[in-house]
Amino acid sequence: MADGPPDRDEAARRRMVSEQIRARGVRDEAVLAALAKVPRHEFVPGELHGSAYGDHPLPIGLGQTISQPYIVALMSEALAPRPSDRLLELGTGSGYQAAVLSMLVASVFTIEYHAALAEEAAARLSRLGYANVEVRAGDGWGGWPARAPFEAAIVTFAAPDVPAALVAQVRTGGRICIPVGQPQQVQQLMLYTKRADGALSSRMLGAVRFVPVQGERDGGAGRG
Ligand code: SAH
Repeated sequence: MADGPPDRDEAARRRMVSEQIRARGVRDEAVLAALAKVPRHEFVPGELHGSAYGDHPLPIGLGQTISQPYIVALMSEALAPRPSDRLLELGTGSGYQAAVLSMLVASVFTIEYHAALAEEAAARLSRLGYANVEVRAGDGWGGWPARAPFEAAIVTFAAPDVPAALVAQVRTGGRICIPVGQPQQVQQLMLYTKRADGALSSRMLGAVRFVPVQGERDGGAGRG
């Protein structure tokens, strides 16, 4: 399945984890182990296999990207995943973030706007044996009511604000990690926690740059 010799990919992953992720302060050992395990080169287009473990996002088609490994790790850690959690992702893309999270929680439910990407990701995840991930094509802004409630939610595109549906579908004490801000600009990566009174407490994790939201919520500004 893998293109290159497996030991070469494994060594590249180990280097990625120590030099890009542990070195920047990610400490959750389960998260680090997941990043060391998931074959990121299987989630990028064939001609980019050689760059799969580099310190940057990569194009995956349709103007979308697979996030930088460090950002995947940072967001995974922020969600404080537990083995019994059910987790919602908006923005499946390649399926890489979903695969990483699937090693840390009971089930991942993930929604992708572009049907072609959703199909590809679903096929890839099942071929690689990530059986606890369910992929759906469509606009994720309304969440996934039929699969709610979730212990945590992650959004992997730039959103103008937090989708109300996510707040409704996450349990009390649940976490939402999401880049908030205008498309084509820098966003703030936010970690929200839903309090008992339903309000959100928030923490800023740093400046990031994600691809824009597609669909109903982009107001036409996100195309391109
Ligand atoms: N998590 C992905 C990164 C994907 S980039 C990975 O690991 O590869 C963000 C993705 O969000 C894109 O594929 C884009 O099509 C998708 N997206 C944008 N707006 C969306 C929306 N409203 N609902 C669902 N997916 C959306």
